[in-house]
Amino acid sequence: MKLRKVTAASAAALVLALTATACGGGGDKDTKGSGSGDGKTITVGIKFDQPGIGQKTPQGYSGFDVDVAKYIAKQLGYKEDQIEWKESKSADRETMLERGDVDFIAASYSINDKRLAKVDFAGPYLLAHQDVLVRADDDSIKSPADLNSKKLCSVTGSTSAQNVQDTLAPKAQLQEYPTYSACLSGLQNKAIDALTTDDSILAGYAAQDAFKGKFKLGGFKMTNENYGIGVKKGSDLKAKINTALEKMVADGSWQKAVDANLGPAGYKNEPAPKIGDIKS
Ligand code: GLU
Repeated sequence: MKLRKVTAASAAALVLALTATACGGGGDKDTKGSGSGDGKTITVGIKFDQPGIGQKTPQGYSGFDVDVAKYIAKQLGYKEDQIEWKESKSADRETMLERGDVDFIAASYSINDKRLAKVDFAGPYLLAHQDVLVRADDDSIKSPADLNSKKLCSVTGSTSAQNVQDTLAPKAQLQEYPTYSACLSGLQNKAIDALTTDDSILAGYAAQDAFKGKFKLGGFKMTNENYGIGVKKGSDLKAKINTALEKMVADGSWQKAVDANLGPAGYKNEPAPKIGDIKS
């Protein structure tokens, strides 16, 4: 076996690289939870694969959650170029907050009791509803009960997967995938019959150029999904973010962000929720 010789210089470079990674991970910044800018960065968890909500594209980051996060960061004293974006997949969100990988999460993150045992939430800032996306030529799914005989995709760690198992369609053949993009491919190639998650997310998928005319929403409004901003348990950011969200609604920026991001997909949104008003 050939071993690479470690010189003093390469060892020093390695140490530097590791230090840089540790800082980039957000574990070491004095801004953690303090909410004051001064040339530092703030780390925000978003979705990378939800057009209209949170998406990473070659041009940058976009979506309603991204605009909400930018507004909050600004109110906390951070400029846009001081925001470090991280992908927070559905199953990873509580752990990312608990570990301190991110300062806050804006990622179609529904407030519920199970999550409240581990993290805190500011908000809510959007009320969505669980729905299904099916192929446009499939007329066999007319109500949630029709899902019982179907192959249904949802994402691990999402409320949608849990709701299906618990109440909505306990006899559905639930297949949990790691991301929404994976479910979409399955729906397209008929590996699954339907994808279930929030209508706010599904509207964005149905309107994507690549899928135009291929998929349709059921329109079932099966649950209330109260989107909150996740923070570490006990963080003083919760109160500061609530103040920022109230301001965002009051000055019209909330409506502007809804129109710009959810409007193009034709999504009919609910009015801005009041802070602390969680619809069951
Ligand atoms: N809002 C739901 C949840 O928090 C579904 C969307 C998602 O997975 O982010 O689990």
